[in-house]
Amino acid sequence: MTSVTSETLSDEIIALESAYNAHNYHPLPVVLEKGKGVFVWDVEGKKYFDFLSAYSAVNQGHCHPKILDALIDQAQQLTLTSRAFYNNKLGEFAQYICNVFDYDKVLPMNSGVEAVETAIKLCRRWGYINKGIAANEAKIIVCENNFHGRTTGVISFSTDPSSYKDFGPYMPNYVKIPFNNTTALAEALKDKNVAGFLVEPIQGEAGVIVPDEGYLAKAFELCKAANVLFIADEIQTGLCRTGKLLACDHEGVKADILILGKALSGGMLPVSAVLSNDEIMLNIKPGEHGSTYGGNPLACAVSIAALEVLKNENMATNAEAMGKLFRDELTKFNHPLIKEVRGKGLLNAVEIDAADEDAAWNICLSMKQLGLLAKPTHGDKIRFAPPLCINEEQLLQAVQIIKQAIEEYAA
Ligand code: PLP
Repeated sequence: MTSVTSETLSDEIIALESAYNAHNYHPLPVVLEKGKGVFVWDVEGKKYFDFLSAYSAVNQGHCHPKILDALIDQAQQLTLTSRAFYNNKLGEFAQYICNVFDYDKVLPMNSGVEAVETAIKLCRRWGYINKGIAANEAKIIVCENNFHGRTTGVISFSTDPSSYKDFGPYMPNYVKIPFNNTTALAEALKDKNVAGFLVEPIQGEAGVIVPDEGYLAKAFELCKAANVLFIADEIQTGLCRTGKLLACDHEGVKADILILGKALSGGMLPVSAVLSNDEIMLNIKPGEHGSTYGGNPLACAVSIAALEVLKNENMATNAEAMGKLFRDELTKFNHPLIKEVRGKGLLNAVEIDAADEDAAWNICLSMKQLGLLAKPTHGDKIRFAPPLCINEEQLLQAVQIIKQAIEEYAA
């Protein structure tokens, strides 16, 4: 047994977690116990703006009352049947989500990476059955600096050593090309064994890398011309985060396979989904893919409520307006420590220009002291992604905290 001694309650809890939990994350030293809307509270009762939103899983705000009601009501009724039997919620959810996103079918899963794996299977299957690629030859094009999750399959095409190093052997037949580069895509698409192009419309984990305007539309057009499926991983960018229901909507692109997760449950439980039309989806037959929890009635009820909240509370419009205000305010601030402010809607990042490689981390620690939580991504970039229910007054208060933390760090 590891003994745990400490000063504050937070220290005690952090030490306990460190003693018994795997060290697969490096959290900011704050221990949260409550959340409401854009705010979270730590175990000492201190209140913070949440500017991470659980990596965009809490777009609707913490503990949204409508989603919570749906969770409680359904949890008292029926939570899990497995797909060995029908449940009375899956059909309703499937119809609802297919109508919202305009696809023939949905395949529900749990975590985001499971949905990515599902999309890969669907794409390969389509490649063999519909495109006529020879057995086991199908390739998928991906982008450098991608982040699609943590399974051994998905890390096989990561270009980030912290994701893949010492976890090999890796799955073959992924073609890596630079993001935001349609010339490289056109070249890679010449290979007749390519079945799909998997892309994040904005690379979130890489540091909120926004491609040039027109990139997604051009990439889609190139895929169509090559008879290749365009697969959009909107796990982080979707569900109003970037100011539209989907980030692909900014360019009028409708992906052949759409991958959703995170905010699909508003932060209540893991729910992910893959959407496509019948030509792709019906290639998977009973027994060929699934998950014990996928499509469970609790997830279905919560997910319908989570999607309704996004629409009824105009979260896309608010994300668009508040995101613009956020970028305008920090651009006007024009501080020498800020190299760039970028993003779309409420998915934003500030790139820090400092010799100190821990600058972004230290600024996050200062912001924490001042009552705002955010986390660096890839060293010198800080992602700012508050819940989409944030209002103007709250956003301006938060911007003040960010400015003060940067000034304090500079001093
Ligand atoms: N795809 C993207 C674009 C993501 O941002 C993430 C998570 O950050 C994932 C996939 C993986 O989702 P999960 O952590 O739920 O498996």
